[in-house]
Amino acid sequence: MPSPAVSGRRGSNKEPALETSLKACYLLEVRALVDSGKVCLVWLGSRPYHPLVSAKPIHSIGFDPDETKVEAVRSALISWYEVNGRALPWRRTRDPWSILVSEVMLQQIQVKRAIPFYEAFLARFPTARALAEAPLSEAIKAWGNLGRYRRVVSLHKTARILVDEFDGEIPSDPKVLVGLPGIGSYTAGAVACFAFEEDAAFLDSNVRRVLHRLFFGAEVPEPFATERELQRLAETMVPRGRGWKWGQSSIEFGATQCTARKPLCEACPLSALCAAQPMIRGLLASLPRGEKATYRYEGSNRYYRGRVLAALREAPEEGVPLRELGEGLREGFAEQDLPWLRNVVESLEKDGLVRVSSAMDWPQRVTEERARYGTRCTDSPPYGGATRVSLP
Ligand code: SF4
Repeated sequence: MPSPAVSGRRGSNKEPALETSLKACYLLEVRALVDSGKVCLVWLGSRPYHPLVSAKPIHSIGFDPDETKVEAVRSALISWYEVNGRALPWRRTRDPWSILVSEVMLQQIQVKRAIPFYEAFLARFPTARALAEAPLSEAIKAWGNLGRYRRVVSLHKTARILVDEFDGEIPSDPKVLVGLPGIGSYTAGAVACFAFEEDAAFLDSNVRRVLHRLFFGAEVPEPFATERELQRLAETMVPRGRGWKWGQSSIEFGATQCTARKPLCEACPLSALCAAQPMIRGLLASLPRGEKATYRYEGSNRYYRGRVLAALREAPEEGVPLRELGEGLREGFAEQDLPWLRNVVESLEKDGLVRVSSAMDWPQRVTEERARYGTRCTDSPPYGGATRVSLP
């Protein structure tokens, strides 16, 4: 068997390193592709992972999903869903408002965590009109501690636009939906598909991963396919008249079977059709633990944004003084923590999530004020005394 054509900075004398770096399970596969002239190998230089090779994207040698495979994938995936799909509350309705709320809530939030918030939010705001007529502070309260609070601000704005311009109805056209605050192409496509049963194509992280693996191969260390190619493939995949079923099937398959880090390949009904098999498990195992794994949510500013909003939900309407807010947030909260708290509160204010009633004694502003009048500002200033923070 001839050697793979290795090109790039390190040259072909590194083949032994290549041999040891590549997992045995896909080395043969890669070699076969090289030998058949379908891929070439290039060194990736100083990448932190896989300092070895990248195969020439299969799509660049003329990716054209064959209709037989498209049909086989569709039918295997839908059959899988009919047995394994979870009975989730937003799958029992076609109410466009409920679907919109679920899609806004579910992005990057686990299904199990989202369900009680979804139910409570819809119980309080069963229609776009109900949300539009309520003050934003009520919407933030109903959002609870679900996080990603900018979304509720956008949803509130969207509800008001829906009432003003669409008589409180949700438009079914994704091109119209995508112009509303906080609604991107995924949400627009999902609402059209799940509420109106349109044959709309969309890509979320689950669908993107599943299609990539099935048709292009492993998406790690880097995806082969471009977003445009995946979007085109997603459009090809939607079976006419069965968009709802296909959409639910592909999302569910990515969420529970073909997951990002631990796909259940051994028990996968699509393994014979999958371009990522058998190398995907080896590639995933060789990846370093992502930043996410080491990211500590607790103690981060995101964590404290949530804590501030939780405190304000329980506070009187006029809000609480800044210092008191800090004392409720952190044990041992002291004067020197006020600038930090100011940053947290300002970021919330910028997102429209809180109102600051008087910023006269904001830490920095006091210092600036004193400097202007030539007063010394080395002593401890009376930070946070009169400033009150409340929900908008
Ligand atoms: S074989 Fe593995 S990677 Fe391929 S579709 Fe099934 S679960 Fe996903």
